[in-house]
Amino acid sequence: MALVVQKFGGSSVSDATGIKRVAKRIVETKKAGNDVVVVVSAMGDTTDELIDLAHEVSVTPSGRELDMLLTAGERISMSLLAMAIISLGQEARSFTGSQAGLVTDAIHGNASIVDVTPKRVFEAIEDGAIAIVAGFQGFNRGTGDITTLGRGGSDTTAVALAAAMHADVCEIYTDVDGVFTADPRVVPTAHKLDFVTSEEMLELASSGAKVLYIRAVEFARRHHVTLHVRSSFSNKAGTIVAEPKEGETVEAPIITGVATDKDEAKITVIGVPDKIGRAADLFKVVSDEGTSIDMIVQNISAAATGRTDISFTLPTGDGPRVVASLRRHQESLGFESIQYDDQIAKLAIVGAGMRTHPGVSARFFSALADNGINIEMISTSDIRVSVVTRLDSLDEAVRAVHTAFGLDANGEAVVYGGTGR
Ligand code: ASP
Ligand code: MG
Repeated sequence: MALVVQKFGGSSVSDATGIKRVAKRIVETKKAGNDVVVVVSAMGDTTDELIDLAHEVSVTPSGRELDMLLTAGERISMSLLAMAIISLGQEARSFTGSQAGLVTDAIHGNASIVDVTPKRVFEAIEDGAIAIVAGFQGFNRGTGDITTLGRGGSDTTAVALAAAMHADVCEIYTDVDGVFTADPRVVPTAHKLDFVTSEEMLELASSGAKVLYIRAVEFARRHHVTLHVRSSFSNKAGTIVAEPKEGETVEAPIITGVATDKDEAKITVIGVPDKIGRAADLFKVVSDEGTSIDMIVQNISAAATGRTDISFTLPTGDGPRVVASLRRHQESLGFESIQYDDQIAKLAIVGAGMRTHPGVSARFFSALADNGINIEMISTSDIRVSVVTRLDSLDEAVRAVHTAFGLDANGEAVVYGGTGR
């Protein structure tokens, strides 16, 4: 008998019809002879609606209370799903994150899982029931308070439970057929990948691919959990995300996929004195704002002035705050001025095959040049090349690059609706 963890995102359970469809699917898995643990997200856009509501009653909602509020979203979906399963004649029991033993640190809104003690979940499946666990939430032992794991945190809940319970597979159900070579909403000729290494998935997720959350991929990689990303609207096999099998990388395609991120902005600090420690001081100010920066480019300083320009990218939402903080420190940092640009986007190509194939960057940049797209910044890792372009030329850029690397499929990708969660 296999133990299967199934995670259903908000778009799969957005209404009663969706919940009943998902319930049927879970019961089928159970009837096929598996033990089933289900992790569910809040219905549709519930989490966003609750956040909006919180901001209507308070400019800066208390972190503790916001977590209390948001976890209600998953409570609604988990109990409705359990009811739907019970009405199909199967036993089901729902559990909140704390009942399921999801122990976290005390960081409200972005807690990390520190321990998983799923005693009650084990008991439920031993009794022959289907266990339904609320995603995205846990509790802290020190404070005794309820926490949330950050947006999209239900993926992490599923992976953590799969690891702690030694599940055979962790299935992540979404509204597309799997992981695609590019966002099928932007590139209609994108095709589904059968297999992606966890290393590539990590790069794709950190470059903006929304299909899986980066923390969940990290967790899965660390604990050797095999992920199966698939659609809750079809019965097709999806994408397996796992460590490469022996010899697999030898024949890997050069590029596995193209990822984009529209939620990035660029800050350029002009005329920074080219002195030892100045970059350290500058990025200390930035990191004190709690933002995570991505690409950094420092120009060679002009000999005449002994000054240099430093540009970096960061999430758009953090931009204005970081600019304001840098301005407050302008005197001590000694720079001349700041430029802020939120009309940029990031485009990355990812593939383990890059390690053994020269000329990948040249082909990437030519595809952009041939389409009149200017590159503003470049960064690379072992298996990734990223560029910054204008936001309004991003979609065209993705399509051009997708074609240039021979990734176009013959048919059109199926998108079942929703937002990709
Ligand atoms: N409901 C939460 C969110 O929308 C968690 C999740 O969907 O995974 O972020
Ligand atoms: Mg959601």
